[in-house]
Amino acid sequence: MTGPLVIPVRDIMYRPGEMREHDLALPVPEKWGEGLVSVAQGEELVVRLRLESVHEGILATAELDTRYSGVCGRCLTDIAEPVEVEIQELFAYSGSEETDFEVQDDHVDLETPVRDAIVLSLPFQPVCQPDCPGLDPATGERLAVSTGSPQGEPIDSRWAALQDYTPDHDTDARP
Ligand SMILES: [Zn+2]
Repeated sequence: MTGPLVIPVRDIMYRPGEMREHDLALPVPEKWGEGLVSVAQGEELVVRLRLESVHEGILATAELDTRYSGVCGRCLTDIAEPVEVEIQELFAYSGSEETDFEVQDDHVDLETPVRDAIVLSLPFQPVCQPDCPGLDPATGERLAVSTGSPQGEPIDSRWAALQDYTPDHDTDARP
């Protein structure tokens, strides 16, 4: 049995209360995710794993850190953001419990639960920033990002004071 996340558990099997911790760093074995963003093959995946022997099997708890990349769903700019997910899965001894995962021989294979948790955590409609203005519907160009236009901001407090006394200054730019 091989795989990037196949972990031996022989030394804690059938010994409830025993626990092992593993810190792993590995390249993601294949592209995970099919949407606008995905975790690329070869992206580093860090797994902080705790395996606990319990009566029914091996309880795996892991903190996962990697990175997704792709494009903003509004303006199509390239984006990349960290992914942090925690999982907990019981790997039951064969035939003992109805669970999704079983201890196989003397190993557990975390790849499926790790991949599923990461893929589920990916944003369905990723954006480069929460207020991304998207593309101009007429030209298809990226709209300028509103960071506060210089004209609208007082240069210093003296100008602010003047603007406060300008009639209708708040309504000038509004329809
Ligand atoms: Zn965007």
